[in-house]
Amino acid sequence: MPLKIQIIGSGLAGLAAARILREHHDVTVYERGGPDTSTGGQGICLFSNGVKILQTMGYDRVRAGGVPCHGYRGFDKQGNQLQDFPIDFKGRYGADTLCMKRSDFRDELLYLATRAEGGRPVEVVYDTNVVDVLLDGGVVVRGDVVVVADGVHSRLRHRVVGDGYRAQKNGMTCYRVAPSAEKAKETLGYLPEWWDPTTSAGRISALQSGDGSNRMIATYPIRNYEYINFSCLFPTKQDKDTVQESWYADGDGDEMVDMFADYYEPVLQLLRTATEVKVWELQDMDPLPHWNKGRVILIGDAAHAMTPMQGQGANMAVEDADALRLLRPGLPREEVEGVLEQVDAIRRPRATRVLEDTRQQAKDITMEERIANLDYNCGYNGVFEAVRG
Ligand SMILES: Cc1cc2nc3c(=O)[nH]c(=O)nc-3n(C[C@H](O)[C@H](O)[C@H](O)COP(=O)(O)OP(=O)(O)OC[C@H]3O[C@@H](n4cnc5c(N)ncnc54)[C@H](O)[C@@H]3O)c2cc1C
Repeated sequence: MPLKIQIIGSGLAGLAAARILREHHDVTVYERGGPDTSTGGQGICLFSNGVKILQTMGYDRVRAGGVPCHGYRGFDKQGNQLQDFPIDFKGRYGADTLCMKRSDFRDELLYLATRAEGGRPVEVVYDTNVVDVLLDGGVVVRGDVVVVADGVHSRLRHRVVGDGYRAQKNGMTCYRVAPSAEKAKETLGYLPEWWDPTTSAGRISALQSGDGSNRMIATYPIRNYEYINFSCLFPTKQDKDTVQESWYADGDGDEMVDMFADYYEPVLQLLRTATEVKVWELQDMDPLPHWNKGRVILIGDAAHAMTPMQGQGANMAVEDADALRLLRPGLPREEVEGVLEQVDAIRRPRATRVLEDTRQQAKDITMEERIANLDYNCGYNGVFEAVRG
């Protein structure tokens, strides 16, 4: 008998889990937003650890417009290149690292979860704000397994760990925009070297202010170079409660341009062309004591919110989804709790280490330490290898 699995949240964690679990079980996803729910049109990097798992799901990088990354470059705020660190992700870790538009990434996961082939298609129930989960005899959401993937401000986390576990701001704010190549060519007449496919060499570029103000613009091309992601980071000037709730809240474009007004003109011109500006005060959460209780388990940001300093949040969500493969076909309902404990034992220590490394990465660490972190992150080969130890 397939298990009846309810997933709360159709973000990146919820949809990745839905795609994995549909192979052998009956899966329903509840989403408080509508069918147009998107995690924003800006960029996201899926590193080799996430991409290895995505490949096992039939993830089509061409359909998702994934741009392979081949390392990092550092620039000053006038656009002078300071460093270049080529990285052969595929050779070193067994799969490429891909930069994508978030909405393309989510669309591909949704497609893989709901298409006709590959087990019973997942049912996605939109406009449903789940307020509670009860396993036996409850009336809110019932199932053999409940996977809570409702994001950083999870309303259901307390059901698993009790009250008192919340994300905390870390003092940095990030504006995110994704101007189009068409608009860039219209405005500048060319693509800057860190965007142009003939010169960017697939690098993620960081334009550092270099003046002690701790401002930085991280940029990488997405959707086959048709867009570019700008993540514009700076120390928070003033807390804005409005950006607490969602990490894809709308931001003020003029404020963003003012904050980087001393950067060289092509960057400012591109920032000015952005039609959708998102703002987020970076937040993370101290490690939880456990992720599961009975037949309920937390995954994604609900379990381990971290800042984007290593770009590992969604990668951890994909790894969580993969770990749910331990809910093997034909698993009796009575054994679910034990399997979720096993998932917790495998996933939580690793996500905790990645969170701690991410906190370190926000400070000044050496390139050797960064590479050691990359080796740890990208060297992961999925849950079955983790079980074998
Ligand atoms: C600026 C920035 C850059 C980042 N860059 C990267 C990167 O390059 N690489 C990377 O791996 N990670 C990155 N991350 C982290 C990554 O975006 C998150 O880790 C990831 O999106 C978390 O996915 P999630 O599904 O857990 O949560 P979410 O994407 O927030 O999804 C939660 C879903 O649950 C729904 N929901 C919430 N409450 C309820 C409810 N009560 N009932 C029903 N539905 C509900 C929401 O509507 C939403 O659809 C970045 C984050 C930020 C802020």
